[in-house]
Amino acid sequence: MTKNHPSLAKRRCKNCRRFVSDSPFTGGIYVFCNLDCAVAWSKSDAALKVAKKRLAAEDRAARQRLKTWSAHNKEAQAAFNRYIRIRDKYRPCISTGRPADDRSNIWDAGHYRSRGAASHLRFNLYNCHKQSKQANRFLSGDVVEYRINLINRIGIEKVETLEADNHPRKFDVDYLERVKKIFTAKSRLYSRLFR
Ligand SMILES: [Zn+2]
Repeated sequence: MTKNHPSLAKRRCKNCRRFVSDSPFTGGIYVFCNLDCAVAWSKSDAALKVAKKRLAAEDRAARQRLKTWSAHNKEAQAAFNRYIRIRDKYRPCISTGRPADDRSNIWDAGHYRSRGAASHLRFNLYNCHKQSKQANRFLSGDVVEYRINLINRIGIEKVETLEADNHPRKFDVDYLERVKKIFTAKSRLYSRLFR
């Protein structure tokens, strides 16, 4: 056994970068050779940056704790809908057949069974497809045409399964956070693939 722990003996002073093997200032995350170095570093830009970073992280955690269920729900839905629009980037409007184009401001993610009437299907990938804003918002989802094209896209069995699915689901905060995380990641991946 050596006198000093090898990992301690190897550490450098955060301020002057000299090796420190024995110092009263080795208790924290950082090691300093003496009080002067500890004080000098605490006044540096680097220390300020570390402090700011830590504060920002605490802030984020606090905001996350305070976030309401409805805020989580909204964020999860936004992430899911965004993924649908990216997944269907090269597909036409599910109801009007309007051909795909690059303008993002004319497309929605339209639910076949609406979020209002069938909220338990709001994160169902079969139940949601890219749709022109016009059809989604001003033709009440254009549901007759939607159904015809949906059958072409996913098959009658899946459409009928959707139509028969009235099994209520409870989406808790953990679930909503997972939905947001998963679909944000999928969007990122698909955007890269489609570039
Ligand atoms: Zn030092």
